[in-house]
Amino acid sequence: MFENKMQNLPITMTKCPTMRDAIYGLAIGDAMGVPWEFTPRGSFCVTDMTGYGTYGQPAGTWSDDTALTLATCYSIKHRGCIDLADILNCFRNWLYKAQFTATGEVFDVGSTTRIAIGRGEGESDEQSNGNGSLMRIIPLAFVKDIKEQEIAAVSALTHAHRLSTDACILYVNIARQLIQKVPLQLIYRNIALPSSDFEWIRSIDTWLESEIKSSGYVLDTLQASLWVLANSDSFYEAILKAVNLGDDTDTVGAVTGALAGIIYGYQSIPEIWMSQLQNRDLIEECLF
Ligand SMILES: [Mg+2]
Repeated sequence: MFENKMQNLPITMTKCPTMRDAIYGLAIGDAMGVPWEFTPRGSFCVTDMTGYGTYGQPAGTWSDDTALTLATCYSIKHRGCIDLADILNCFRNWLYKAQFTATGEVFDVGSTTRIAIGRGEGESDEQSNGNGSLMRIIPLAFVKDIKEQEIAAVSALTHAHRLSTDACILYVNIARQLIQKVPLQLIYRNIALPSSDFEWIRSIDTWLESEIKSSGYVLDTLQASLWVLANSDSFYEAILKAVNLGDDTDTVGAVTGALAGIIYGYQSIPEIWMSQLQNRDLIEECLF
C-alpha cells in the first residue's frame, strides 16, 4: 500500500533567513532614520515612516548606508566573488554618478568614505573609526565560506583601522549565526571575539538605555544596535527603538534593521513602511 510520507512532515517548514530579509530590513531602518539624523535623543519620538527633516528627502528615501550595501551586493552578484577593485568601482559609481541611490541624489556621505573612495585606499588612523564600513558589510554574511580576512579587506576599502575591520568581522559573524537560527542571547554569550575591545558584548543586553550612545563611532553604533535587538520583540519595535535613540539615526537603524530582518523576516516588516520605500526595483536587482 502506498504510504504518503509527506503527511508526516510538519505543515509549516522553518524558512531559512535570506539576503532579502536582511537588505530590506537595512533599507527600512535607514529610511526611517534619515529625516532624524543628528537629532538628540528625547527631543523627538518616531512612531512611523516620515519624510523631509535633516536632508529634505521624501518619506522612504534611504541614504549612503543602503546605497553602498547595494553597490556591494551588485558587485558580488555580477563578479561571482569578492572582487575588491570592482566593489571600489561600484562605490565610485555611487559617489560620482549617483548609481545605487534611492532618488538619483547622493547625500549623507561620510568624510572617511569620501576621502578613501577618492584615493582608492581606506583610512587607517584611529580617528577614522566611524560606522561607514559597518553600515554596508551585511551582504558578506550571505557569501558562502566567506573568510574573515575578506570581511576585513572589504571594510578596509574605506575603513582600514583594526577596530573597524574587527567590528565588521564580529557583525558578519553574528549575522551568520542568526541565519543559522542561533538565539541572540547565546550568540552574545559565546561568540568568538576579534579582540578584547568587544568584551562588552557579553553583557550588552543588560545595559541601561542611558549607557547606550548612538553616535557615528563604530563601537557606539554596534553597541546601540545589539542592545536594541536584545531589548525588542519584533521588527517594528526594534526599528522604532533604534531610531529613537537619536544622533546617527539612519545608521543605527540600518545596522539594527539588517539583523532584525534576519531574526523576524521580510514578512514582519509593516506593509505601510514597505509601500513607502523608494526604488524597490533597484533593491530587487541587487539581491543575490
Ligand atoms: Mg546614512
